[in-house]
Amino acid sequence: MATVIQAYRFALDPTPVQRRALSSHCGAARVAHNWGLHLVRIRLEQRRAGEDVDVPWTLPALRREWNKAKDQVAPWWAENSKEAYSSGLDGLARALKNWTDSRNGRRKGRLVGFPRPKKKNRARDACRFTTGQIKVLNDRKHIQLPRIGACKTHESTRKLARRIEQGTARILAATISRTADRWFVSFTVEVQRHVQIDSDKATVVGVDVGIRHLAVLSTGRVIPNPKALERSLRKVRRLNRQLHRRRPGSVRRCQTRRRLARVHASAANLRRDALHKLTTALATENGTLVVEQLNVAGMVRNRHLARALSDSGLAELRRQLSYKTVWYGSQLIVADRFYPSSKTCSACGWVKAKLTLAERTFACESCGLRMDRDLNAARNLAKLAKYVAQSGWETQNARGADRKTQPSGQVAKKREPSSPARDGRETGTVGAQAPTALAR
Ligand SMILES: [Zn+2]
Repeated sequence: MATVIQAYRFALDPTPVQRRALSSHCGAARVAHNWGLHLVRIRLEQRRAGEDVDVPWTLPALRREWNKAKDQVAPWWAENSKEAYSSGLDGLARALKNWTDSRNGRRKGRLVGFPRPKKKNRARDACRFTTGQIKVLNDRKHIQLPRIGACKTHESTRKLARRIEQGTARILAATISRTADRWFVSFTVEVQRHVQIDSDKATVVGVDVGIRHLAVLSTGRVIPNPKALERSLRKVRRLNRQLHRRRPGSVRRCQTRRRLARVHASAANLRRDALHKLTTALATENGTLVVEQLNVAGMVRNRHLARALSDSGLAELRRQLSYKTVWYGSQLIVADRFYPSSKTCSACGWVKAKLTLAERTFACESCGLRMDRDLNAARNLAKLAKYVAQSGWETQNARGADRKTQPSGQVAKKREPSSPARDGRETGTVGAQAPTALAR
């Protein structure tokens, strides 16, 4: 048995009054965030001008300032739970810390910018409750939140309710959020669960996430997209075209945008569900799984639907595998982002100079191999596991891997040819030098 932190997320069926209360809480969080940010800016300015002022930088400091000012700033504050304001200020405190850490080199990844105000229709509607009446009610159809009260859930809460009744789960916090027109609650739960120490399986599988297929395994197995997802994706494409024809600021454009958001959300749900089924099967049936590193910087920049989808699929696959491999005792290896899994020939190791996304078949100019692009990539990923084992790289489980700050800080380290990988990172990663070793 081990204690793990797990999330349980349920769609809600709020009443119109609750719907308003939910938005009001998210709005309150945003107001507190923006107010706090404004205050920090003013104080920084004053300090720069030589005045001796305190700049509230932490949650307790921000909360103290808020409590002093709330009667003037937000005379309606009593309408929402105090947790709403706290949630907004907490987000700000974290953002400020990330900014200082990033500037002092204490944070991996790209440089973090100074926090920016959250705009009403652009920012994600979310609010976190950490204290008060946060409960799953005994009828397994309702949850309870401070101020909002008992709210009906769309589906049964039995999976969480059972654990709470057995005493193997404890709710730490609840976050409400909105996607398209639907509200969700996500409980952060401390769960006592059975965790396998080591998998008795020796199989190694490389997984490549695609667009045309949900995933391609190095074993040659192709997991197709669910039919419903294909339908949703076609709808997304159509609505996207429609949106671009609509006049900016028109009522119809607004309608189309809302419709598109709904279809997007449903496509994302279908994909996530299919990926959950796949990752559970993969983690329980195999000893080692190899996936590609995520190109986070590229993810933000590329606006093509196909690329965005495959990136989000990969991100989700990795996220799920990183905790499921811990639960089921298997091992996760993440290939370096400079490892050219798609461009390398899985038979002879020849590397193609350029491979566009449109090229669906990999054709080797050295040994003449012709293979489906995704299968070729999956095979290369699987080979990486062998390389990791041979070279004696310390590969551990993905336990507690820091998923938030994965990108470039580590990559810089990995690019150095002979640096040993035992830097305490928990996810096994293989450097860019791997392909040469593979070719031998
Ligand atoms: Zn070849």
